[in-house]
Amino acid sequence: MGIGVKYMHTAKELEALGCRVYLSEPLSRHTTFGTGGPCDILCECADMESARGAYLYLYRSGIPFEVVGRGSNVLVSDSGFRGVILKFYGDSHIKTFGEDIIYCSGGISAKKAAAFAMEKGLSGFEFAGSIPGSVGGHVAMNAGCFGSEMKDIVEAVGGFIEGEEVELSPGQCGFSHRESVFLKKKGIILWAKFKLEHSDRESCLKKFKEITAKKRHAQPLEFPSCGSVFKRKEGVIPAKLIEEAGLKGLKVGGAEVSTKHSGFIVNRGGATSRDVRELISRIKREIYDRYAVWLEEEIRYIGQF
Ligand SMILES: Cc1cc2nc3c(=O)[nH]c(=O)nc-3n(C[C@H](O)[C@H](O)[C@H](O)COP(=O)(O)OP(=O)(O)OC[C@H]3O[C@@H](n4cnc5c(N)ncnc54)[C@H](O)[C@@H]3O)c2cc1C
Repeated sequence: MGIGVKYMHTAKELEALGCRVYLSEPLSRHTTFGTGGPCDILCECADMESARGAYLYLYRSGIPFEVVGRGSNVLVSDSGFRGVILKFYGDSHIKTFGEDIIYCSGGISAKKAAAFAMEKGLSGFEFAGSIPGSVGGHVAMNAGCFGSEMKDIVEAVGGFIEGEEVELSPGQCGFSHRESVFLKKKGIILWAKFKLEHSDRESCLKKFKEITAKKRHAQPLEFPSCGSVFKRKEGVIPAKLIEEAGLKGLKVGGAEVSTKHSGFIVNRGGATSRDVRELISRIKREIYDRYAVWLEEEIRYIGQF
């Protein structure tokens, strides 16, 4: 079935705002899992101005939309998403601010931001550079690894929440484990400032290489995935429980509990989002039956499941 007149109008408005627009775009091309059906409109915003314009237009028009960055923590339904996917990814806007602060667009890749900070001899962003995704996605998710989280380095975040322009201090961002106010309310992160520490380029690079080596060793990076599927909670390490329950290697269709890191579900080829969702349900039921612990997903769902 063709796209409706309403969405043709929306597509034209978004193009006029400087966005690149694709109709009926398969989201499997925009998620690291490599699954997900088409959205009515994919709206790519390569800079802060077009992201700002697109967000405000969509919010005020009441058109269903979801913000994504690199799609490295989202599971999109096989039937896709009825509405607009606002993809904010690819801006190159980044600069130092004062002596030890970097300011960057929410759309920039975290790896690029880390490379910039390391080049300036500023330390603290290395862990974030080892995690796939955009700076906006990282801040929204309060991404972290090896004892560091985005909340530890955020100085200020700018964007919109429920249609209102905001500039938030770290305390106002509502950070907790893989959570922030930007996920709980309909928000978009347009920029963020990070307070880092003076160091030198070589030490920063050494730290970055150590972190990425540890990740390569521990994570199944050879298969498409979304990273860890479940949130850690006080005293609960999902990967440990899943392994103890003997669920390593459990498969539904092309989706498999990684044999290398049981917190990951990997796409072994031809997985659908339905396979992944079914596998998640089986894991949750099994862990609950064995340990009376109800695991909670870290990954974010888009569309109908
Ligand atoms: C191999 C692999 C390893 C991983 N390892 C880790 C790890 O060690 N630690 C960790 O924490 N995560 C990890 N992840 C998960 C993922 O990389 C992070 O959650 C990352 O922060 C997601 O960024 P993204 O730009 O891809 O966001 P997306 O997946 O596109 O979106 C995730 C959520 O953030 C929201 N969002 C995205 N951009 C914005 C924005 N500009 N404004 C407001 N909201 C936004 C979306 O609406 C969505 O709810 C891993 C993933 C993979 C594939």
